[in-house]
Amino acid sequence: MIRAALLLSFGLLLAAPSRAAAPFDGGAGALDVPKPDLTAMQEAAADARRSRADLYAFTKEEAAAAYKKFAFGIKAPRATAFTFDKDVPADIQKQMLADLAFIKGLAGENATALHRKIFGAVSGADYAKFFETRVSAIGMNSCGGGNAVACVIPFQDPSKMWLTQNFIRFSHPQVSRMMVVYHEARHTETKNRNWPHATCPTPFRDENGKDMKSIWTGATLAGEPACDETPFGSYSSSTIMLKNISKYCTNCTDKVKLDAGLYADDQLGRIIDAGAKKEMRDDFSR
Ligand SMILES: [Zn+2]
Repeated sequence: MIRAALLLSFGLLLAAPSRAAAPFDGGAGALDVPKPDLTAMQEAAADARRSRADLYAFTKEEAAAAYKKFAFGIKAPRATAFTFDKDVPADIQKQMLADLAFIKGLAGENATALHRKIFGAVSGADYAKFFETRVSAIGMNSCGGGNAVACVIPFQDPSKMWLTQNFIRFSHPQVSRMMVVYHEARHTETKNRNWPHATCPTPFRDENGKDMKSIWTGATLAGEPACDETPFGSYSSSTIMLKNISKYCTNCTDKVKLDAGLYADDQLGRIIDAGAKKEMRDDFSR
């Protein structure tokens, strides 16, 4: 009931008259896609109902609205490289470029079938291509507040990635920050309805009977929109990426491989469909 009311109020906000200069909109104007000009106030309203338990989440309804908006009519140009909005602080740009350089430098001796299907080889070139053909611009946003480090807001702009100030305050290893970045990049796929999250079950416990908690925020995940039902979603595809880095990277340090394995195993716990989880486990063990 509350959710319906909130959706309704969000719908009304979207229908409200727009203002010319949306302060959070970055002002780069590099894209040809129509820009919904939500004001900062509207954004705050949209953020108000977002769970802060884990990574940024949008609803299936919002993904459907994005599909309606961006999959027909004026087609968003296929991104080939990204630009930073002017308001992205220099230190955040530097960190993002360093992270992407790290990813572009990776080499691997093999890849699992699911990895090949989604990303190609375990190689910097394929990872760079995945990112650069999906993300056309990077801007600053609160991404729902809380501990979010990055987000894609499909109904606003499906090929734009937003970073928060937390991006450089993140206490997790570099390879796991890239897990978040590639998780978000997967959400740009309008044709795949942006792979919205699934709702985690209640209760949601691990094999030892302990409540599942977010490795990103420490919050309990039962009932949160922080799970996946398919091997191809955002949590699952970034899990497949890190698992493959841990298994097959030939020029990573032991620490990078260890971290990649640790975060992959953690995020595998978010796959709540037994068939999907088995498919991933089988893929990893081949
Ligand atoms: Zn997500």
